[in-house]
Amino acid sequence: MHRCNKCDIEFRKKKTLEQHIQYIHKSVSPSIKKILILGGGFAGINILQDILKEFQNNVNVEISLVNQDNFFLFTPMLPEVASGMIHPSDISVPIRTFCKRAKFYQAVVSTIDLEQRLVTITRTFDGKVHALEYDYLIFALGSKTNFFGNKNLEKHSFTIKTIEDAIGIRNHAINMLENAAQTGDPDLQQKLMTFTVVGGGFAGVETIGAINHFVRDAAASTYPNINKEKINMILISSEKRILPEINKKLALSAMRYLKKVSVKIITATKAIDADEDYVLLDNGEKIPCTTLIWAGGVSVDPVISEIKCEHDSSGKIKVDKYLKVACFTNVFALGDCASIIDKTTGKPYPPTAQHAMHQSKVVSNNLKVAINGKGSLVSFSYSSKGWMASIGKRTALVSIFGKNVEGILAWFIWRTYYLIQMPTFEKRVKVATDWLVDLFFKRDLTCVGKIKKKTLSKIDVKDEMPTLKELLFPDL
Ligand SMILES: Cc1cc2nc3c(=O)[nH]c(=O)nc-3n(C[C@H](O)[C@H](O)[C@H](O)COP(=O)(O)OP(=O)(O)OC[C@H]3O[C@@H](n4cnc5c(N)ncnc54)[C@H](O)[C@@H]3O)c2cc1C
Repeated sequence: MHRCNKCDIEFRKKKTLEQHIQYIHKSVSPSIKKILILGGGFAGINILQDILKEFQNNVNVEISLVNQDNFFLFTPMLPEVASGMIHPSDISVPIRTFCKRAKFYQAVVSTIDLEQRLVTITRTFDGKVHALEYDYLIFALGSKTNFFGNKNLEKHSFTIKTIEDAIGIRNHAINMLENAAQTGDPDLQQKLMTFTVVGGGFAGVETIGAINHFVRDAAASTYPNINKEKINMILISSEKRILPEINKKLALSAMRYLKKVSVKIITATKAIDADEDYVLLDNGEKIPCTTLIWAGGVSVDPVISEIKCEHDSSGKIKVDKYLKVACFTNVFALGDCASIIDKTTGKPYPPTAQHAMHQSKVVSNNLKVAINGKGSLVSFSYSSKGWMASIGKRTALVSIFGKNVEGILAWFIWRTYYLIQMPTFEKRVKVATDWLVDLFFKRDLTCVGKIKKKTLSKIDVKDEMPTLKELLFPDL
């Protein structure tokens, strides 16, 4: 590999590096096309990998990616991290692993101006605001947890969206076990040992399944003082059934299994209020509990919903069949932050990693067509080949090509599929090792406490990026 240290990128061929230095650092070529990808999740990383292959040796194309964390997160395995089965870093891959000749900015996207073709970003480590220009822009910023404006629910819930969320849930569950083991008060013990998850979709069901397994096994093996009768696991769904994304038969099997392993399922009910030690339902029931995990819905970040373009009622960006934003032919949106209508159902495609990855192929193709000026645009149309969810101890549900599989075989298929989907060989080995260890040993109940974080406010990290002021008013 041949590096340009100034840009912090590398090229496979020496000749390409020489061309890059000539075009970018000596006499800036007017034909340079700047591609800016916002978001380093399933959608963003898949596009990055695809276009890097195409433009590896084309110095007229500059590729940049912005993400708030310096890693890609494999979200379907978050419940396994929250229940201590997998180590957090094993489902996180540093974004620079994928970058090679693309620039990476670890920063929060703060504003987006489609008219001016300008994005401002706030650098994560020192809070500096910078401006990035682009010729082609890709929105892949995902979604955020939606509390529907309920501040109490937001304040007293854990969410299950980020790696910090999963670590937080695991540590809290261990703390609750420690607390419950030290009280002789049966009511308090019950409150400490009641775990409520709101949300009957994949995230909620997989989370209650994983936590149920973890807490019951830990209590049985390590906490003899905890009365096992006092452990309550509750799943609340606002829908009439859980897992509305999958076929009814399989969803009913999931309900049967969860009930068998003592998870109480409350359907057609909403959580409307909460405090530190209870959650209140809209049927008037008040559940005393010290753990509330919210997987009750997603929406988009204001940085997306406030962009001046067409949005759906939830704030997602509306795109056409080529995944382009209306009126801005150089701007694409995909994944959880985009509203893409499925022609066969008339409804938006569901926000899943599976869809984000298929959409990324369409965007990559259409971007290449736009830049190369040849080839044909491809429209997005996808019908899911199947679904799978892990719902407890060595148990999963799989629906593939119209066939339903449950139990240990489904669990094996689930694991194999997700292992293949992990983006690097190293992480596959690590996850497989975690799973193997879990078959033979008890879960680790070490609870790592608060972690000190140092911010650098006095150190000035100089770089090539202009500030917004320099970009807009170069003569001042
Ligand atoms: C617990 C859980 C389990 C799931 N299980 C499954 C499953 O089994 N199967 C399935 O298909 N899907 C599953 N999903 C859904 C799946 O994770 C999402 O649909 C998928 O991640 C969407 O991809 P994306 O690229 O649009 O968004 P993401 O993967 O969320 O990526 C968005 C990226 O943008 C970054 N970002 C956001 N805002 C900013 C900002 N302002 N500035 C900078 N960076 C920003 C984020 O940090 C993130 O890296 C699950 C989700 C969760 C939470």
